Amino acid sequence: MTNTKTTKSEKKSKGGIKSDKNKTDKKIKSEKNSHKYIFVIGGVMSGVGKGITTSSIGTILEAKGYKINIMKVDPYLNVDAGTMNPTEHGEVFVMNSGLETDQDMGNYERFLNRSLEKEDYMTSGMVYKYVIDKERALGFGGRCIDADNIRDEIVTRYESSAKKNQSDITVVEIGGTVGDYQNVMFIEAARVMKLRHPRDVVFVMVSYMPIPNKIGEMKSKPTQNAIKQLNSYGVHADFIIARSELPVDKKRKEKIAFACNVPVENIISAPDIDSIYDVPVNFEKDQLGEMITRALSLPHKITNMRGWKGFITNVSKAKEVSSREVKIAVVGKYFDSGDFVFSDAYVSVIEAIKFSAYKLGVKAKLSWLNSKDFEKDPKKINELKEYDGIIVPGGFGNSGIEGLIKTIEFARVNKIPYFGLCYGMQLLVIEYARNILGWKDANTAEINPDSSHLVIDIMPDQKIKLDNGHYGASMRLGAYGAIIEKGTVAYKAYGKTEISERHRHRYEVNPLFVDEIKSAGLVFSGKSPNGKLMEIAELPKDKHPFFLGTQFHPEFLARPLDPHPLFTEFFKAILEL
Ligand code: GLN
Repeated sequence: MTNTKTTKSEKKSKGGIKSDKNKTDKKIKSEKNSHKYIFVIGGVMSGVGKGITTSSIGTILEAKGYKINIMKVDPYLNVDAGTMNPTEHGEVFVMNSGLETDQDMGNYERFLNRSLEKEDYMTSGMVYKYVIDKERALGFGGRCIDADNIRDEIVTRYESSAKKNQSDITVVEIGGTVGDYQNVMFIEAARVMKLRHPRDVVFVMVSYMPIPNKIGEMKSKPTQNAIKQLNSYGVHADFIIARSELPVDKKRKEKIAFACNVPVENIISAPDIDSIYDVPVNFEKDQLGEMITRALSLPHKITNMRGWKGFITNVSKAKEVSSREVKIAVVGKYFDSGDFVFSDAYVSVIEAIKFSAYKLGVKAKLSWLNSKDFEKDPKKINELKEYDGIIVPGGFGNSGIEGLIKTIEFARVNKIPYFGLCYGMQLLVIEYARNILGWKDANTAEINPDSSHLVIDIMPDQKIKLDNGHYGASMRLGAYGAIIEKGTVAYKAYGKTEISERHRHRYEVNPLFVDEIKSAGLVFSGKSPNGKLMEIAELPKDKHPFFLGTQFHPEFLARPLDPHPLFTEFFKAILEL
């Protein structure tokens, strides 16, 4: 434990007889050495907010002064989330280390206001690959390797995540729902940890209490069954977070408590709410933090949620009827999922937009526009006039690209603030090259490698990787430093010359064309420290209110308590018009 503040009872014992003091010292010593774990497991069904519950538990415990790290366990066999299509699985979140993960990691970082480590993410694929590779290298000394080795490797990873972060408490979210055969090993590993350290491990089940339309009554049976299923693994829930449309009443809490053998006060009602950021405050009202720390044999500590509550106040102020509504068009290509708009692919972008809007006291109204619609019906592009700002987020491949280039041209010509993220920056450069420099075939090697003006080209090391079919975890990934040029829009936003931002791309502005593009008026206001890679492209303020693109993904570092300066600058430009 890194937190060793003297508590009231410890102070008392200092004045007591010697043997008492020794006892207390021993107790503190054992607390100092033991790391605590909270395993969060889903019951009944997915999609009810297990990730937000996990994040919120982290927030309230951190507000008590503990150092928390949160870990996500994904049962799939992909070694990381990088090769998954965002329309299948949602956003691929990139960590500082470059690890490509599930979008939940983004929530954890946003709720903790801190970057997490690569040890905080684990997939079945990662674990199996490691164990099998080790076996192939005779790493087990000729022994027979079986499922126990997988379980032990999972235990090692739970523990190394805690060590790497030097945290006091690790909150682990186990992906999927109890009863899935895919996540059994992760629960089994947690069971073993509880057996070894009974005072250091608690289990939280996030369950769902449906209110079927025809019945009109909240039903607790699915939760009871989920708890029984968990019991069959030898694991018992210490807490139940009962998600539902409405608050769970006393009668139902008592029913669950009796049937599931969980104290009634450990059943927390978690009804639907407007903002996910209210969840920690609601948990704290129910004293969940206090109860969990008590269950973990940790000393009592005061909760200080001042910073978080300040943010919540900004959110509600920005949502007031009287506050200005700013219309943002997010133009992209990963929006269709059957009959639904699938905004999950851009969670971090959405949150980054909202944080800066809240900071400036305005409401951001997002509209999802599919760039392919502008290709089918070119007149439709005029609809963009209705928006205060336009964002083109990251993407891959060639569908919808011409519609995106038209979008960027429209924003430039009509002086609508434009913010391009990664692909949105590369396409900004292509648009400029085509329409200002007159290089009509300007393109990226990702789409047309035969273009005579490949203003965006593949990085040489990337070409080798692709030629060898090496796609997984092979892009330019994670945090890299960049230098910002003074007197630019980017400098105005950051207020400093040295920054670090997260990347995820294979292609780059082609150094062969940089000078010509610059002399046509586009400014490269951010570059890699060796000056070779263009990190930010922009038009000066006297030419356009805001026309800027970043080769990196600023959205991954936007936090509720620390909105991203470029998103804030984009909004400021809108509000100045
Ligand atoms: N497809 C582009 C590249 O690989 C942009 C990637 C992105 O937007 N993340 O360079």
